[in-house]
Amino acid sequence: MPIRSGAEYIESLRKRKLKVYYLGQLIENPVDHPVIRPSINAVAETYDLANREPELGSAHSSLIGKKVNRFLHITESAEDVVLQNKMQRRLGQLTGTCFQRCVGMDALNSLYSVTYEIDEKYKTEYHKRFIDFVRYVQEENLVIGGAMTDPKGDRSVSPSKQIDPDLFLHVVKKTDEGIVIRGAKAHQTGCINSHWLIFMPTQRLEPGEEDYAVSCAVPVDAPGLTYIYGRQACDTRIVDGGEIDAGNSMYSGQEALIVVEDVFVPWKYVFMCGEIEFVPILVDRFTAYHRRSYVCKTGVGDVLIGAAALVADYNGVGDKSHIKEKLVEMAHLNETIYGTGIASSFLSYKTKAGNWQCDSMLANVCKHNVTRFPYEIARLAQDLAGGIVVTLPSEKDLRNPETGHLLRKFFATKENVDPEDRMRIIRLIENMTIGRNAVGYLTESLHGAGSPQAQRIVISRLMQIEEKKKLAKRLAKIKDLEEQVKKATAKIT
Ligand code: SF4
Ligand code: FE
Repeated sequence: MPIRSGAEYIESLRKRKLKVYYLGQLIENPVDHPVIRPSINAVAETYDLANREPELGSAHSSLIGKKVNRFLHITESAEDVVLQNKMQRRLGQLTGTCFQRCVGMDALNSLYSVTYEIDEKYKTEYHKRFIDFVRYVQEENLVIGGAMTDPKGDRSVSPSKQIDPDLFLHVVKKTDEGIVIRGAKAHQTGCINSHWLIFMPTQRLEPGEEDYAVSCAVPVDAPGLTYIYGRQACDTRIVDGGEIDAGNSMYSGQEALIVVEDVFVPWKYVFMCGEIEFVPILVDRFTAYHRRSYVCKTGVGDVLIGAAALVADYNGVGDKSHIKEKLVEMAHLNETIYGTGIASSFLSYKTKAGNWQCDSMLANVCKHNVTRFPYEIARLAQDLAGGIVVTLPSEKDLRNPETGHLLRKFFATKENVDPEDRMRIIRLIENMTIGRNAVGYLTESLHGAGSPQAQRIVISRLMQIEEKKKLAKRLAKIKDLEEQVKKATAKIT
């Protein structure tokens, strides 16, 4: 029976037997844990959106001949890739945080084309296995967590030269039935809220490192998997601070360390095993897909711009020209991110396998913008909100009869503005710029889908500097040096 709604999705998570640690304790029931639950709510929105706005949240899959959640769809046109971005912006607006499902979507779409090309070269059967897996997850409407980033150890040496071979996920045993893998994946978005994980290698490998070239799917509760939950700024506000202090009590993101201790994977779920030359191709396609997925942050930016405008209204300065200027600057930065991401999707090309792959240059420019512009947008939001973002007393003080009336008296601004509403919007700005959801809006924007230098490397590879020099030379009427040398040599001989 497929999952049909956010509520059914939340119920489906209860059937799993996960080993999750948070704050030094084994968490028996992550689904109802107050700190974890907001991140589950964010994923649940991806199900409800598919029901509420099916043209955005779902798509027709030729693989099973049915409508499927767009996060599980293998793109069949450039428009499908564009619609992913539109859906991501919408979900960012609805949740104000990371809704965690894009990594799986991007893994499915990049592996679809890469498994096809491996089979073409080696006559393997990865693509067929992969399609069987996609059909299954589409039929059941499951959440797929994509897991790429290894802990990486000493960054100056390759996986096989690390002090500990487990610093990169690798195959430790192969049998007729399958493979056994060991290692870890770090900073894994939404892994505890998923049904299946897809592991992928993280970087280019050298000959002799074939055991590290492994991609496969594993149920989240496979024996040998342990999750250690990432601590987020102000994460316990929801427990000890109440609804207002949490800022966004409904939604949050999630990252965890996945430890993989000799996990057995049957061959039917193995999609790459040893083909090192396809590792950079997979990494390039996945990261291109995922880097333009970061238009999610423009939806979050929409919320923050709205919050900044509201706080200015509450303070009585919403119509002042310098306030409007700052809001325009925030919108300009936000739309610049969106423009590059969606342009990358519009420029998608058809792969040999038949699905569509976004433009790599613009995807990397999009993500590079995301490493910078949200910080400036957040700075401007704090500028408009004022110092009270970091000095506001707690909800408990507001509820205390001894102090509540004092807060209402001294945090009043003008007629028709409830001081409690002012506190709520200030807490939301705190949440998004230094609190729990700043994890996703700022630092995860910096490092997620690769740190800034990773994008600069791709941009430098794709920027065609020699072609650009030729363009300049032509207009300046500078003759090509090689041509001049040739002519001079011809004269001598
Ligand atoms: Fe999706 Fe954005 Fe979260 Fe990545 S950071 S999973 S792109 S919502
Ligand atoms: Fe991410």
